[in-house]
Amino acid sequence: MKILISSCLLGEDVRYDGNNSSVAFNPNISFSLKELFMDILCDNEIYSFCPEVAGGLGVPRIPAEIVKNDKPFIVQNEEGKDVTINFLLGAKKALDVCLEENIKVALLKANSPSCGNINIYDGTFTSNLIEGQGLTARLLKEKGIEVFNETQLKDLKGFIKANK
Ligand code: SF4
Repeated sequence: MKILISSCLLGEDVRYDGNNSSVAFNPNISFSLKELFMDILCDNEIYSFCPEVAGGLGVPRIPAEIVKNDKPFIVQNEEGKDVTINFLLGAKKALDVCLEENIKVALLKANSPSCGNINIYDGTFTSNLIEGQGLTARLLKEKGIEVFNETQLKDLKGFIKANK
């Protein structure tokens, strides 16, 4: 199965701070889950994608949060600069890849203002999580693409098995 995966989860240094969110090298993730992650990588066709880089933002970049989480969305960086268009563009480009490649499922980084599928930071830059979705996760879901995060690897495996 084809899977779109957040580039940072694959170990690519595309995060705002110039680092990654590698699952394979995260000391807080159990070995059995790392094995499951590696199985998923090896058994499927992986499309690495970072919406924020695709939307024109650099690495490193000033961290951004969603400050208005319904249409019209507003995303600002910590210096107050509006970066909404970059986030919208990244989401659209992620969707384009999924449509062009017939990708039906994505594994996206939890809590990100682009990739988070369940929670996002509340827009105050105080590390406070609230219920909500990043702009890419939201758009993919709206278009019928299943979205999982790195804490839902077993669910992703189940989805793959059920839809092979
Ligand atoms: S936009 Fe998504 S893929 Fe890119 S660094 Fe943030 S969480 Fe990772």
